[in-house]
Amino acid sequence: MYATASDVYEGAERVVSCPICGNTGGRFQSLGYYVKCPSCRGATRAEAVPQDELDAYWQGEDFWSRDEIEKRKHRAPVFREAARILSRVKPIPGALLDIGCGIGTFLAICRDEGWNVAGVDPSPIACRVAEEEYGIEITNDLFSSEFFADRKFDAVFAAQVLHHLPDPEAFLSDVVRVVAEDGILVLRTPNLVPQEWMLRLQRLLGRRERFFCGPTLQVFHPDTLRLLLGRQGFDDVSFVIARPFLEPLRGRAAIPNLRRLLYAGLKVAVYAGTKALFHVSRGRINLGPSLIVVARRKAPPAQGAEEEAGARGRHLREIVGNTLSLGFLKSLAYSFAYYVHEQVAWRARIHAEEGIRIHATASIRYAENVYVGRNSHINHNCCVWAGQRSRVRLGRDVLMGPGVCLFAANHGSRKGSPMMWQERREADIFIGDDVWLGANSVVTAGTRIANGVIVAAGAVVTKDVTEEDAIVGGIPARVIASRKGG
Ligand SMILES: [Zn+2]
Repeated sequence: MYATASDVYEGAERVVSCPICGNTGGRFQSLGYYVKCPSCRGATRAEAVPQDELDAYWQGEDFWSRDEIEKRKHRAPVFREAARILSRVKPIPGALLDIGCGIGTFLAICRDEGWNVAGVDPSPIACRVAEEEYGIEITNDLFSSEFFADRKFDAVFAAQVLHHLPDPEAFLSDVVRVVAEDGILVLRTPNLVPQEWMLRLQRLLGRRERFFCGPTLQVFHPDTLRLLLGRQGFDDVSFVIARPFLEPLRGRAAIPNLRRLLYAGLKVAVYAGTKALFHVSRGRINLGPSLIVVARRKAPPAQGAEEEAGARGRHLREIVGNTLSLGFLKSLAYSFAYYVHEQVAWRARIHAEEGIRIHATASIRYAENVYVGRNSHINHNCCVWAGQRSRVRLGRDVLMGPGVCLFAANHGSRKGSPMMWQERREADIFIGDDVWLGANSVVTAGTRIANGVIVAAGAVVTKDVTEEDAIVGGIPARVIASRKGG
């Protein structure tokens, strides 16, 4: 799986399989004891480290020496900085898991801020110290989602873990199982970008394992992490430049303190420059010594939204499919013919005096039998249907509300013949001058309406209205009042 260091270092840059992204093509570049993948831009140790050696390192007593434990306690500001980054992306504390939590310093800080905390660490010593020092019970093992099968965490933290793992992708795919929807994952791992030349130098100087704490199996480029996290369904991946840890002055000895002071000054200068460059390049140039990644897990689309998206896709396919069919052309021709019949043809045949208005949505049949007097209005959605042998005659100044129907032909009702083929009974409709037909009123064949009549909205007029200026309403319509009285 791995190229050996000598294979790579002798200048024979060989194609190997990248344990980070699986890529096998292109030229793997030598970076001292590491090889850099041309695809994911991550660097992998050229020589594999056996798993039992790794286990011995992390679980043995050497790593968590008394000195190391004391050092961690003093490094509380580093963890407070991490807690600050966490609270910026998750302002409301929920459930937090720290993977590789060590002696639990970060967990203790977060617990004080209201988080419900859990931790896992392979070192029995670290777990014991966490319980003694902070009263936090840690799961003592390498991380597995099985330990937290019935739990989901709003935030999962894994600082200085990923680069120690033989298979970082397998680790992330297991971690994602315990991250709640819309939960976040925060990783901290060395940044290959500023360390690339250091790695080359390391080999030349014959030094091993001095640049990173613990056996480092890979070093990641920001692009590597974007790729790995994207594959696991983290859609929102961003990087943070963290404030450096400045060691406080201690004791009275001048030289060590001067050294601490110079070192702190250098760190602040590097931090300021890195942060400015990161900002100006809109996050494209990240020279921070560590990559701090904040990734948010995609919330699955709501079921309704998914159905809606599915329906939209179906409709679109339906539209495209039908547009390309012969039926569509036929239907287009029918619609066109109908439009000509309803909106164009009659205009040449209708008998109209000046000043009339007919709305575009009105329907006129047998226009040669339709007579419209001066200043009369036919409104939205009105049907003025004369028959083959029957006329509709509107007087002058007739006002029609929307949806008025005048039917000068009627189907018969004889039993034994389909409605379609019933004999039509045709009879003229005469509307007098100055008549107002209210919205949605209906006038049936053979009906005459006298001058000045008002037909109430929704009425159905089936018999002649002979009384001038009458107000009629209802079904069938009858006289309810007179304009003369009002
Ligand atoms: Zn790769």
